[in-house]
Amino acid sequence: ETNKETLGFQTEVKQLLHLMIHSLYSNKEIFLRELISNASDAADKLRFAALKDDSLYEGNSDLHIRLDFDKEANTITLTDNGIGMGREDVIENLGTIARSGTAEFLKQLSGDEQKDSKLIGQFGVGFYSAFIVADKVDVYTRRAGTPVEEGVHWQSAGDGEFTIEQVVREQHGTKIVIHLKPDATEFADGFRLRNLVKKYSDHISFPVIMKSEPTEEGEEVKDETVNDATALWTLPRNEIKDEEYKEFYKHIAHDFEDPLTWSHNKVEGKLDYTSLLYIPARAPFDLYNREAPRGLKLYVQRVFIMDDAEQFLPLYLRFTKGVVDSNDLSLNVSREILQNDSTVDSIRTALTKRSLDMLSKLSKKDADAYQKFWDEFGTVLKEGPAEDFSNREKIAGLLRFATTHTGESTQNVSLDQYIERMKEGQNKIYYITADNFMAAKSSPHLEVFRKKGVEVLILSDRIDEWMMGYLNEYDGKQFQDVARGDLDLGEVETEEDKKHKEEAAEEHKDLLERIKTALSDRVQEVRVTNRLTDSPACLVVGDFDMGAQMKKIMEAAGQ
Ligand code: ADP
Ligand code: MG
Repeated sequence: ETNKETLGFQTEVKQLLHLMIHSLYSNKEIFLRELISNASDAADKLRFAALKDDSLYEGNSDLHIRLDFDKEANTITLTDNGIGMGREDVIENLGTIARSGTAEFLKQLSGDEQKDSKLIGQFGVGFYSAFIVADKVDVYTRRAGTPVEEGVHWQSAGDGEFTIEQVVREQHGTKIVIHLKPDATEFADGFRLRNLVKKYSDHISFPVIMKSEPTEEGEEVKDETVNDATALWTLPRNEIKDEEYKEFYKHIAHDFEDPLTWSHNKVEGKLDYTSLLYIPARAPFDLYNREAPRGLKLYVQRVFIMDDAEQFLPLYLRFTKGVVDSNDLSLNVSREILQNDSTVDSIRTALTKRSLDMLSKLSKKDADAYQKFWDEFGTVLKEGPAEDFSNREKIAGLLRFATTHTGESTQNVSLDQYIERMKEGQNKIYYITADNFMAAKSSPHLEVFRKKGVEVLILSDRIDEWMMGYLNEYDGKQFQDVARGDLDLGEVETEEDKKHKEEAAEEHKDLLERIKTALSDRVQEVRVTNRLTDSPACLVVGDFDMGAQMKKIMEAAGQ
């Protein structure tokens, strides 16, 4: 009697597989990085689990990854002695995609392979990338610490179904056999594989071992470690090449685009930790899903503790990826402990500053790259002033705005640039908020500013009015909503302008009274203004009233 079962992939997996196979054919080799990355994660997980129960090592704590190939059979075999998987794990991990929002994400795909291959970068390809080069994949695995009879054999041709069968497996951990497609047989080659391991996986924490290939008669075949096998962040900065930083990013971030920038720091003294932080080039598809995984990979004394440790950075920096390795925390640390630990708080304060400095540096060093960052993550950073009072000034310096100066909707003007262009006598930073850019740009409130040549920030993102509620000033200059209160243009307004306004108010006193009476239940006050040059009238909001946009948000929320 056989216990072999055939199961179907989740619909999303089928779609992803199809997409991957068709859009990544020019990038085939990444499958190896993905599989080695998984093997390394599995070794990390076993080492962590063994902290509490070292019988899980089953007598062998020498964690490593083996890479073999067979030219005749056209196969590549990757074996790890990491945590392994039980039957349910296999079905869950190699049959479904756990991340919520995947279905909606896949709906956005256009069928245009060029475009889609970029989109897929937001997702991370992972295990399924094996099918870029394989027409059949076998996975043999057993969870560390379970009986040898509970091994699992998974097999699939990547065409919608997989089989799963219970097998006897002496060794815990996972063995993956890739049966290469006819157009991918080039990978069953020692030279090629060694190069790929060096290129993509040099600085994972575990050795990748291959059999040596003797060049001389009679030389014996031995095992040799192909990669450097020291965790990248433990090396001194000046010994690490940019390429190595980039590859390491791809390993930890499950991304396959290069990061925009990074910051690597070793801190000794009161706190003792190393951090390596990265800014991705592209927002993940679930950036706005507040439940989406975020946070850093946490290590304690080089031992992997957990993924997505979210306590080390505030929510508004959730796009930051990286590693933090602490020598102060205990190896037993749990998520609960992290939540109210003073060491963690101190590291978080430091890493927050580090991230903001990294962004500030990027903005100075490479304006194009910074603009790319802003376009992807700007609206997330805008949550900053409200969430992080103490860093408001720093965050404000990183914001980018559309303004009347360019007249374009692209948000690319910094407050420093605005201040540089301020008029003689101008002492405020003016802004306008509206539902959309065009509405803001054509608002009658801007008339006088145009006439005086005073620049106004144009804010039309949903979050903007709320954000401005938390920003009072920057560089000693107050923010002023042009649609609010009694407009004071400072010294930009001439004595003449002021006199003119007073005279007009006197002259039209009766008219103002009559309008006020007629609109009595709708307005608080009617007054003469210098705000307008072409339009006859406009509405303004009181200094302390809720703005028009905010009102809509509150109404929409049923308040
Ligand atoms: P990710 O690595 O981003 O989680 P993958 O598609 O690469 O996504 O892998 C899916 C899951 O399958 C992993 O999270 C892990 O639980 C499991 N897995 C994959 N490879 C291995 C392995 N070699 N050993 C143990 N578990 C693995
Ligand atoms: Mg993976």
